[in-house]
Amino acid sequence: MNADEQSKTHFDLIVVGGGSGGLAGAFRAAEYGARVALLEPALLGGTCVNVGCVPKKAMWLAADIAGKLRMAQSLGFSIDQPPQQRCELDWPTFIVHRQRYIANIHESYRKRLDASGIVLAPMRAHLLDARTVECENGARLSAPRILIATGGHAVKPDMPGAELGGTSDDFFSWNAAPERVAIIGAGYIAVELAGVLQALGSRVEVFARGARLLEGFDAELTKQLSDDYCQSGVRLHFDRAVAALEADGVRVRLRDADGALSEAFDKVLFATGRRPNSAKLGLQQLGVKLDARGHIVVDELHATSVAGVNAVGDVTTDVQLTPVAIAAARRLMDRVYGKREGRLDQQNIPTVVFAHPPIGKVGLTEDEARARHGDNLHIYRAGFRPMLYALAESPQRSLFKLICVGEERRVVGIHLLGEAADEMLQGFAVALKRGITLDDLRDTVAIHPTSAEEVVLMR
Ligand code: FAD
Ligand code: NDP
Repeated sequence: MNADEQSKTHFDLIVVGGGSGGLAGAFRAAEYGARVALLEPALLGGTCVNVGCVPKKAMWLAADIAGKLRMAQSLGFSIDQPPQQRCELDWPTFIVHRQRYIANIHESYRKRLDASGIVLAPMRAHLLDARTVECENGARLSAPRILIATGGHAVKPDMPGAELGGTSDDFFSWNAAPERVAIIGAGYIAVELAGVLQALGSRVEVFARGARLLEGFDAELTKQLSDDYCQSGVRLHFDRAVAALEADGVRVRLRDADGALSEAFDKVLFATGRRPNSAKLGLQQLGVKLDARGHIVVDELHATSVAGVNAVGDVTTDVQLTPVAIAAARRLMDRVYGKREGRLDQQNIPTVVFAHPPIGKVGLTEDEARARHGDNLHIYRAGFRPMLYALAESPQRSLFKLICVGEERRVVGIHLLGEAADEMLQGFAVALKRGITLDDLRDTVAIHPTSAEEVVLMR
């Protein structure tokens, strides 16, 4: 092979997967002058841009508008529709806007890849060894470092009739709100899609095998969220283990483990978790360690068990959030090519579920804080109706909660449920990370009248 041919197949870094983590890593490495090849067989941006955060947030915004339009009617705005009737969304029109927004993201990634000199190969790939990647057309690329960022995929439980239900991927191809929808699961996706669909006109029923929504979030807030969902018409079934789906004409019924059959639904969605895309990557032969569910095991520097092979994002054991994948990839490239210190701090990662209303947390829940600090805790709560909801006589309430530890009342957990919680949490997450105390919050002058002021006024 001559030098010219070798330069086309040899790189400083090969990135497998062009989603949140892979793109962030490729761009950051290229900024430091690394020659990078990026392998991505599908649309640039991966799950987040194409079937995750971005189209989901677009649908959440549409649902939010629908709710606000209903409140506007009750507040005296004349909307060309009989009062109390739902404002219907024309999904195809909205989807044109949603997909245009996403197409712009693709375009901007393409331009940035070109400008950074990153070689994009639109192909699936697997590892032959710790320095060589084979593309699906047989081409082989080599580099002293490989970053695996292949993400994950939605899984349906192994049950009879599972093929009658869809996943969040299918939801993004719907062109209208189905009349009746069943959602199986009680995690992020179940809660988000239940809120969106109910607001956009579906009759939604959620089937949770556990006793509550959103395990891992503060139990008081999730109870309040359940109440809000029930008030808005969502029917929540707890401790209901679905064992099978059965066709009933074009509709589908859910059969419980005890044999009970549900009413018929137009659509059934499984929101029962995701699994890593780690099969068929050649990892086992290479000796890359996986956990029992197939996640790549990484250390705090995002190194795998094989030297020169790194991994970030949903394919690893990290929390499955876009900013986590991005931050891990950037810190890694800063260390490798920028010779800078830094690692992703996995503590106190803020997160928001885009429910109606949104619910967010940073730091410890009350249960976690109790397990760690015993009874040396001080809990503060603010429950209230945000002004717009009070004006419109809507029952939706907000509930904020602070978890503080010790005499100095160091804030170790901030939990927000309510209108605008999604936009509020980021700033408070900075404060928590800086180790603030309750007095620091109380010393901060409130911004009035807002919901956020309740956080600094808690007694
Ligand atoms: P991905 O973004 O999934 O990218 C992996 C890429 O690798 C894909 O493009 C895939 O085609 C490619 N690939 C796979 N196998 C190969 C191979 N063999 N060769 C080459 N390429 C390959 N997170 C948030 O922070 N906020 C949210 O609001 C949010 N909402 C979500 C909503 C939904 C419905 C879902 C499903 C997820 C949501 N997430 C959200 C999670 C977020 O999308 C993921 O955490 C994030 O996309 C993970 O990034 P990643 O780079 O690890 O993987
Ligand atoms: P989650 O892990 O959040 O929730 C999975 C849910 O499915 C849990 O309620 C789980 O119940 C339930 N479940 C699992 N298996 C079964 C089964 N066989 N039968 C019935 N229920 C079952 O996964 P999601 O799919 O909702 O989301 C995947 C990840 O994507 C999230 O964890 C999050 O990291 C990310 N995401 C982030 C978002 C955001 O940041 N806003 C939005 C959407 C996704 P149990 O608790 O009993 O196991």
